[in-house]
Amino acid sequence: MKGDGWYSFPPPKPGDRAARAVHFLSVLYTEWLLNHTALVNERIRNWEVGGFEVDVEAQNRFELRGKTATLAGRPDIIAHREDAAVIVDAKTGQESPSHAVQVMIYLYAVPRALERYRSAKLRGQVTYRDHTVRIPAEAVDDAFIENLGTLIRRLSSDEPARRVPSRQECRFCDITDADCPVRVEAAPEPESATTDDF
Ligand code: SF4
Repeated sequence: MKGDGWYSFPPPKPGDRAARAVHFLSVLYTEWLLNHTALVNERIRNWEVGGFEVDVEAQNRFELRGKTATLAGRPDIIAHREDAAVIVDAKTGQESPSHAVQVMIYLYAVPRALERYRSAKLRGQVTYRDHTVRIPAEAVDDAFIENLGTLIRRLSSDEPARRVPSRQECRFCDITDADCPVRVEAAPEPESATTDDF
């Protein structure tokens, strides 16, 4: 077992593929965690040098209880100065639109769930190693809130989601045909006919 520092992993036994897979994922997770922590710490320093106070991770934990579900989260950083606050999420991987949506959800939920930010002038950021995507408060408009509410109600509903089987969707889905009888394993042959026009 590697025992240096604050982490350690059980060694995989020879031939134990499951243990080797867990070990590999543990290494990847630790690497991600170290990279993420380093990026968050770097950004914290930047905000503090800029004269902001910074709340980090567990300090930013929120729960927003609705009638059908509870929306919970923990933005990496909330940097604040006077009545301005910036919600920052740090990402170590490739840029993705879902990262911006995550920050938009924070922009929606944080002032509703955390009393101290109720009247703050909020904006958001996704911060990557080499660039930052800025998200203005106006991105969280009525249409976004309605779509978010619809999605959460849908996810928390007992009604099963409508299946839309297609080769395109099913090939990325882990559900087997034992649990999904309409699963599409192969692209169907296109419907064909003959013509004398050419
Ligand atoms: S396997 Fe079933 S549940 Fe999965 S994408 Fe296809 S239709 Fe949807």
